[in-house]
Amino acid sequence: MYLPSLIMTFIILTLLMSFVYFYMFARSQERYVRFWGLCWVAYSFSLLFLILYLNMNAIQLMEFRKIFDMANILFLLFGAYAFMHTQIPTYWHRFTLYLAMWLILGIYYRFDLLSIYLPISLYQIIITAMLCHIVYRYWKVPQFEKGLSIAVFILWGAGKAVMSLFEVHYYNLSSLYLMEIIFSNILNFCIFIIYLQKTRTEVAIAERLYRIIAENATDVIFYYTLKPQPAFTYISPSIESLTGYTSDDFYNNPRFYFELVPSEFFDDIKSIFQGTSHYGHDTTFLLLHKNGSTLWGEFNSTVLYEDQEPMAVEGIIRDVTRMKNAENQLRSSKHSRDLLLSYISHELKTPITSILGYVNALNDGTLHQEDEKKAAMEIISSKALTLEHLINDLFQLSKLENNQFSFTFMHFSALELSRQLVHQHLLDIKTAGIKPVIEIDSASLTDINVIVDPKRIDQVFSNIIFNAIKYTKPGDKIKIKFCTDRIAKKYVVSISDTGKGISQEDLPNIFDRFYKSHTPVYNGRESGSGLGLTISREIVTSHGGEISAKSTLGKGSTFTFSIPIYEE
Ligand code: ADP
Repeated sequence: MYLPSLIMTFIILTLLMSFVYFYMFARSQERYVRFWGLCWVAYSFSLLFLILYLNMNAIQLMEFRKIFDMANILFLLFGAYAFMHTQIPTYWHRFTLYLAMWLILGIYYRFDLLSIYLPISLYQIIITAMLCHIVYRYWKVPQFEKGLSIAVFILWGAGKAVMSLFEVHYYNLSSLYLMEIIFSNILNFCIFIIYLQKTRTEVAIAERLYRIIAENATDVIFYYTLKPQPAFTYISPSIESLTGYTSDDFYNNPRFYFELVPSEFFDDIKSIFQGTSHYGHDTTFLLLHKNGSTLWGEFNSTVLYEDQEPMAVEGIIRDVTRMKNAENQLRSSKHSRDLLLSYISHELKTPITSILGYVNALNDGTLHQEDEKKAAMEIISSKALTLEHLINDLFQLSKLENNQFSFTFMHFSALELSRQLVHQHLLDIKTAGIKPVIEIDSASLTDINVIVDPKRIDQVFSNIIFNAIKYTKPGDKIKIKFCTDRIAKKYVVSISDTGKGISQEDLPNIFDRFYKSHTPVYNGRESGSGLGLTISREIVTSHGGEISAKSTLGKGSTFTFSIPIYEE
């Protein structure tokens, strides 16, 4: 009589095990765990019918038991399919349905035992074979566990099937039942081990995956524990490329974050790492790199609470320097556009006011004498000319700056170009009462060619010459030199005057738009709009060249521009 109580113990054990599976299913939502739970519930029922049979000795109870036995093995098979994330083939459902119908018919019409047991036993053997095949082919568990599971499957499945046939002849096979129960539990245990193994591997894979992501991300990922002791639990190695400090620097010193920011940000960064930040989620700081440079870092952190107490801070530090710079650039370009507009309106306003003044004076008869009228007309015409120049300059500069200006480049001999430039401006210098000193270094210029737009190079040259004339006293000298810098492979033109010169304060700005120094021009010469040198620089740069100025206030200036020489 020890058998029923032993079986009862196993029923309780098996049911307990199925609850464990259901609990695991509730947590992981893995389908195969649910099938395994159902499998062992079915087995508990099968054992229950066995006890009933052992007590009542009614053979129908054993036949009912067969239904649960079949469900038991079937759920095990379904679990194996789900374990491999494969759809369960529908033929298993169909076979099972036919067999269940055959069983019910057999019980109802009291077929002889063999005709009920035999098809079920065969079916069990087929399922067992299929199970073994699946385990062998697809389960990714260690070889030993795989081999053990297959051995237990075979013994259990085939044993069950063969035992059924024994039951037909010899009822009440206590020792065989016991063996079956023991095998079932070993199997159950094996499956549980497989589950644990799989979970462990999955956790390891997930951990490796997250580690790979964390360690290869350019953003810095950190986890800062607050209780019991503040400490960096994790900070990704990318912190080194961002700040120059290693992860170890942070692991060794929980307050190392102070090294990252200038002192005015100490309170802010402290509040982030103490979990008391009131800034919301994103805060941008100026970060100090170990090498002394600075960068912009955006902190995105979350405080983790336990019982309403901050326990840890996790977050990301992102390098936003480029974004910040672009933002600043945008701001400064907006500012310079506003500045440009105000310059333009100022430059336009002055001549227009003067034109309007004279036109009104002519209209209302204030200027009525012929010579007054003539003088007014001349001023109006000269102001209108200034306006036209200004508008042309602005138009040209805007086209140059947007690369929309079309140049007519030509192949030119450097010597020829030098002679042409001198020829076109010699008279202007002489007419201003200034002595020209021309130096064409024919030796270095012979056989040198350049590719230039001659009209535009003349524009640059004449702008520099006219500036020199404007600021040079009659009787003084303007020296023009043409040569080749063989080492730098450049054709060089320099124009030096002995005029008023430019202060060191003004010198860096003279190529800027609308920049005019405070140096007054000599009488009778017009001061320009401050665009000439800006346009000249754009033209020279478009030729692949450079332009520069040197000057000493009161002693004169030298403007030099160079253009790459053309080599075949
Ligand atoms: P502008 O049309 O006013 O001459 P530029 O762009 O050609 O404008 O020159 C800018 C400023 O540079 C001038 O206003 C002047 O103050 C200074 N500058 C240019 N060339 C000379 C020079 N040879 N001597 C002294 N100052 C000069």
